Amino acid sequence: MYLKKLEIYGFKSFADKVELEFNGGIAAVVGPNGCGKSNIADAIRWVLGEQSIKNLRGNKMEDVIFAGTSTRKALGVASVIITFDNSDGTLPIDYEEVAIGRKLYRSGESEYTINGTPCRLKDINDLLYDTGIGKDGYSIIGQGQVEKLINSRPEDRREIFDEATGISKYKYKKMETLKR
Ligand code: ATP
Ligand code: MG
Repeated sequence: MYLKKLEIYGFKSFADKVELEFNGGIAAVVGPNGCGKSNIADAIRWVLGEQSIKNLRGNKMEDVIFAGTSTRKALGVASVIITFDNSDGTLPIDYEEVAIGRKLYRSGESEYTINGTPCRLKDINDLLYDTGIGKDGYSIIGQGQVEKLINSRPEDRREIFDEATGISKYKYKKMETLKR
């Protein structure tokens, strides 16, 4: 499976519709400070279901919608669609291409879609569970995260390894069983 396409409209600094295509190799995004490189990573996190605005570097969820500039009006909606090539069947769904979408209106109304069909956030979480690409997977390493890993306490670092190797879910299940 690989990231095939990212469509961004009205998300943070992306006032115009932008389509980024990837071909399965390595892609690098370069540009001057403040041009929107990290906003692309934020868009990926967001569309994969991120609920913490702090992780998206904002104060309230509305901050992900294009806020306008001195020459441009603010927009009323942010929309991101991420398309994965699923021809190897990594995602447990019978499609060669899987497009996950998320929309947020200024009114607070929001919408998630899988291949254009409205769904719940839970459906997206279920689809990505254990693939390593969910919002809590380690497919996105943010600025400062490596430093944090190096400087963290051994107990906390272990948690990260447990998560990355898929051990946490067994620990969680064991904890749940012992509670009963
Ligand atoms: P650096 O090289 O410093 O890491 P970068 O390319 O990663 O920079 P970003 O952090 O992605 O830059 O983009 C920051 C820009 O996005 C700022 O100019 C900020 O004003 C703009 N921005 C963030 N949220 C919004 C929003 N809701 N509406 C309009 N612009 C926004
Ligand atoms: Mg940045």
